[in-house]
Amino acid sequence: MVTAIEPLLREQLIDRRHKLEDAANGFQRPAELTRLLGEVDAALERMDHGSYGICEVCHDPVETERLIADPLTRFCIDHLTPSQQRALEEDLTLASQIQTGLLPAPDQRIDGWEVAYHYQPAGAVSGDYCDLIAGEDNSLHFVLGDVSGKGVAASMLMAHLHAMFRTLVSVNLPLDQMIERASRVFCESTLPTQYATLVYGKATPDGQVEVCNAGHLPPLLIQQDGVHRISATGLPVGVFCSESFTCTSFQMQPGEALFLYTDGLTETSDAQGDEFGIDRLEHLLQDRTDLPPRTLIDLGLTELKTFAQGRTPVDDLTLMAIQRAA
Ligand SMILES: [Zn+2]
Repeated sequence: MVTAIEPLLREQLIDRRHKLEDAANGFQRPAELTRLLGEVDAALERMDHGSYGICEVCHDPVETERLIADPLTRFCIDHLTPSQQRALEEDLTLASQIQTGLLPAPDQRIDGWEVAYHYQPAGAVSGDYCDLIAGEDNSLHFVLGDVSGKGVAASMLMAHLHAMFRTLVSVNLPLDQMIERASRVFCESTLPTQYATLVYGKATPDGQVEVCNAGHLPPLLIQQDGVHRISATGLPVGVFCSESFTCTSFQMQPGEALFLYTDGLTETSDAQGDEFGIDRLEHLLQDRTDLPPRTLIDLGLTELKTFAQGRTPVDDLTLMAIQRAA
């Protein structure tokens, strides 16, 4: 099997081989190094013979995200040994704990703003990204995104975004430049197929809000005169290394709120195969100014539950509501 990622994995393996050889010089070639070298060589050989990425038991392709995480993998997830299965489950539990630790406090009141969110992975870990960061100038930075792919690989990218934005906030750049820089770093440090849609916003204590929507679903602005969509003005971050982004600015009055969500909400289908959709959400949020953010979130969750009629969610789900405090 020649997958799109095989050339990159080959490069990684050759690089790993050099590192192992470097480590081995100076030592008396300990058994462990020899074993690892053997495994790397065997993987390179499988690439040469076209059998790389094929499960040795069932001959089905090994999951791509598992090959990315460990290019030496030789079995699909169904054909791991019991001890390998156990180790994988422990890894997932740990990954889930680490991811939970990266989330901000759930209900916050920061300099004139009240925020609540709901973060629900479809599996052990999520590819959704959600954060609240206090800016140097008493501003509140809020961000919600969705990384390409699912599972562990996506959760690693989520952690990458988390670290990157936490670092960039302290540099205090204008919002568009900050997203440009983040996009470049993300693009340079990930595979070509990996990107993230996201909404990044900055709210100041006087009610002024600036939002950059990079290829994400439109946040809904709940105001006295109705609900307004803030459509995407740019591509997702990390698609190209030299993308530019534009931001939208607006003023929010006390009681008005912004509602952000991932496709786990709008792309959930009912028994007839119809999607929840943005129109339904927009309708739900009409005339809902003055409701606390947590109530807005609960409103969305209840509507989704009724719509899905007990079907288990297949995608990661994140909702966030930001309200200007009265
Ligand atoms: Zn298999």
